[in-house]
Amino acid sequence: MIALTNCRLVKYLTEGYKHELADILIDGKKIAAIYPCGENEFSGDTEIIDVKGRTVLPGFFDLHAHLMFSNQNWDYLIRRPEQIYLMESASFAKEYLRMGYTTIRDAGCNHYASGTVRDYIEKGVLSGARVITSGKILSPTAVGNECFGALYEEFDSPDKALELCRREKAHGVDFVKYMVTGAVLNLGGVPGEMVTTQEELDAVVKAAESLGLYVAAHCHGTEGIKAAIRAGVYTIEHASYMDRDSVDMIAEYGNRSVTVPTFAIPFILANELSGPQPEEFKLKANDASEAMAESMRMCLEAGVQTGFGSDLDMSSHLKYPGLEFTARANYNFSNEVILKQATIQSARIVGLDDRLGTIKAGKYADLVVMDGKPDEDMSVMKKLPDMVFKEGRRFMYWTYRNEMV
Ligand SMILES: [Zn+2]
Repeated sequence: MIALTNCRLVKYLTEGYKHELADILIDGKKIAAIYPCGENEFSGDTEIIDVKGRTVLPGFFDLHAHLMFSNQNWDYLIRRPEQIYLMESASFAKEYLRMGYTTIRDAGCNHYASGTVRDYIEKGVLSGARVITSGKILSPTAVGNECFGALYEEFDSPDKALELCRREKAHGVDFVKYMVTGAVLNLGGVPGEMVTTQEELDAVVKAAESLGLYVAAHCHGTEGIKAAIRAGVYTIEHASYMDRDSVDMIAEYGNRSVTVPTFAIPFILANELSGPQPEEFKLKANDASEAMAESMRMCLEAGVQTGFGSDLDMSSHLKYPGLEFTARANYNFSNEVILKQATIQSARIVGLDDRLGTIKAGKYADLVVMDGKPDEDMSVMKKLPDMVFKEGRRFMYWTYRNEMV
């Protein structure tokens, strides 16, 4: 057993315990108990780790990740041999865990690489975040898809939806990713423009559902978002250009759709944090992120479930830790809203809130120790966590010189 002592807890991320300071007892994979500081005598074989009043948060979720997205060098990304693609995806899953993300949802990969990474992490062969994944990105033929090489699988008839969803299912995906509108990140793509038809979208959702899968749809533009809600898409990715009507439609259709905005990638492009960008990317990114913030504000007011996604590449994540947190704070969303989105809200969206998302006796010990008070000052998230636990095991990171961090 392990006891984390002198933990500072955030009230709205903790269940069944009301004080700010606590000792957390971990037994195997789970949190066994939460005690007031110093009140419990731990048995002699318990490993005691004094976190000295630092803040302990539940493990974070990135619901829109791409493990294949090692950097922003597109030529390199699509030309990598398959084995490099796989190894780099595995290393991104490990970096995610180091950053405090104990669960990520991969929104599109080639070679079904993220599914392999998921399975070998589950087996304990690899160390990394828990992975939930789609496979290839299904898409109607559209301008700019070729920028991503074989990551996209184009098809143009509702009749083909079942065949392609079956193939994805046979490769072990957890859900199906489909393109409904143009993208920010492909040259010539118009984010607001719908690239599919209602009929095709209905067919994809029906096909996926018949196989026990849900659809995550890439949607920036209003018409595309509305078509996705009508079709019964579960997760509306990016959800940039929503209007009052589309927000209301979610409730009218029985709240079967949720949104996963992604602020980090447009933020980094618009501000050229990863180097100079084509003018087209910069303009699209700036416009999309302003609209995304307004959309998220409307969704929060209307009680639409809103998750935490970044869509960000590994090198930018490592260069700017916590960027999704600070990008949301930049649009004046409260620390409470942001921290809940990154934990319990996202856990709910992927159906893991009975095991994850808050600190509670009986839940998995996915814990992140931060130096500072992110609930009071989000810029604390710009530092990497001091410690990360996933299912009760402390994550140890070795650098190339074999030093433990
Ligand atoms: Zn994406």
